[in-house]
Amino acid sequence: MSKQYKIAALAGDGIGPEVMREAVKVLRAVEKKHGLSLEITEAPVGWAGIDAAGKALPDATLELCRRSDAVLFGSVGLPDRDPTIPKEERPERAALLRLRKEFGLFANLRPVVLSKALAHACPLQPERQGDGIDILVVRELTGGMYFGRPKTIEDLEGGGKRAIDSMVYTTAEIERIAHVGFRAARLRRKKLTSIDKANVLENGVLWRDVVTRVGKEYPDVQLEHMFVDNGAMQLVLKPTQFDVMLCENMFGDILSDEAAALAGSLGMLPSASLGQTTGEKTFGVYEPAGGTAPDIAGKNLANPIAQIASAGLMLQYSFGETAAATAVQDAIAKTIAAGLRTGDIFSSQDAKARKVGTSEMGDAIAAAIGA
Ligand code: NAD
Repeated sequence: MSKQYKIAALAGDGIGPEVMREAVKVLRAVEKKHGLSLEITEAPVGWAGIDAAGKALPDATLELCRRSDAVLFGSVGLPDRDPTIPKEERPERAALLRLRKEFGLFANLRPVVLSKALAHACPLQPERQGDGIDILVVRELTGGMYFGRPKTIEDLEGGGKRAIDSMVYTTAEIERIAHVGFRAARLRRKKLTSIDKANVLENGVLWRDVVTRVGKEYPDVQLEHMFVDNGAMQLVLKPTQFDVMLCENMFGDILSDEAAALAGSLGMLPSASLGQTTGEKTFGVYEPAGGTAPDIAGKNLANPIAQIASAGLMLQYSFGETAAATAVQDAIAKTIAAGLRTGDIFSSQDAKARKVGTSEMGDAIAAAIGA
C-alpha cells in the first residue's frame, strides 16, 4: 500500500494561487513516480480567507491544518488592503503568526541554493561562488531577544527613556533546535557551523555548551563554532565553506536574509517552519521566503521554484520521503540547467537562457520528475 499523507494547501493572495498550482502539479508527478498517496486539500487564507469567511485564518482552514500532516502555504497580505484593517487582523499576523503559535513552530529552515547556471544572479563575483552555493540556515524561531522578558521602554528620572530587550534561552530550547540542525546536517554534507557570540553574551556561552554536548550524539557530523560577526563576513567572503548554519533567533533572522541575497531572487527561496517531532511525525508549515508580489500577480510572471522547493522540503522534513524530496531538488536543478528562466532570474547575457512563464516552469519541473 502506498504511504498516505494529508496536506493542507493554503495558497493565499497575490502570486500565491499561481505558484501553488505549480507546486501541486509537481507533487502530483512525485506522487505517481514515487508511489505516494497525497491528499491535498485547498483552503482560503489571508485576504482570500477574509473575503470567504471574514477572517485571515478562517476556523475551517485552521481545522483543516489540525487534521493535516503538513501545511503548504503560499503567501498572504496585500499592501493596498492591509492598512484598511486593524494590525492584529492583518493577514501576516492573523494567519501566519497565528499558525506558528498554534503549532509551536520553533525551527525555521531556509535553504539557499545557487547553481553555477545562475551565477549572474548572485551579487558575489563568480570566483567566490565556487561550484555553487548550498547552505541551510536553521534558525530558532520562538526564543531569544524577540520574545524575552522584560521588554519595555521606561521613562528615566530627569528625562529621557530606557529601552530594554532581554535575550533569554533555556537549555531545553537550545537542545531542541540543535537536534533539528544536526539531523538536517545528516541529510546533507554533514557539517554544522554553530553561530553565537560567546565572547560577549552569556547566552552565547550557554548556546555553545549545549550545542557541543548535543553534537556528541552526532559524531558523524563535523561541528564548528563561529562568532556571528565573523559568520556574517564569511558568508560573503567564502560562502561555499558552509553547509548548515545553526543560529538563535535574531542572528538567524539577519544571517538568513544575508544568505538569501546570495541566491539572487526571492523567487528561488523556500522555507520550512517545524514544530516538535512526535514519534515519526514532524508537523511543519512550508512556504516561499518572499511575499505576495502584487506587482507581478496574475500575469504568469512569478517564479514558482520557491513554492515547489517548499513542497520538496515538506516531503523531506515532515514525511521523511528522502527519495521524493531529492527528486524535486534534482528536477529544479535540471530545469535550470536546461536554460528555463522566469523573468526574475533571466539574463540576456546567457545564450542558453529561455524566458518562460510560471506555468511553463512548473510543467518543465513536473516533467523532469516523471522523466
Ligand atoms: P514581496 O516578496 O512580495 O516582493 C518583493 C519583490 O520580489 C517584488 O518585486 C516581487 O515581484 C519579487 N518577488 C517575490 N516573489 C517572487 C517570485 N516568486 N517570483 C518573482 N519575483 C518575486 O515583498 P513586498 O512587496 O514587500 O510585500 C508584498 C506583500 O506580501 C505585502 O502585503 C507583505 O505584507 C506580504 N508578505 C507576505 C509574506 C508571507 O506571506 N510570508 C512575506 C513577505 C511579505
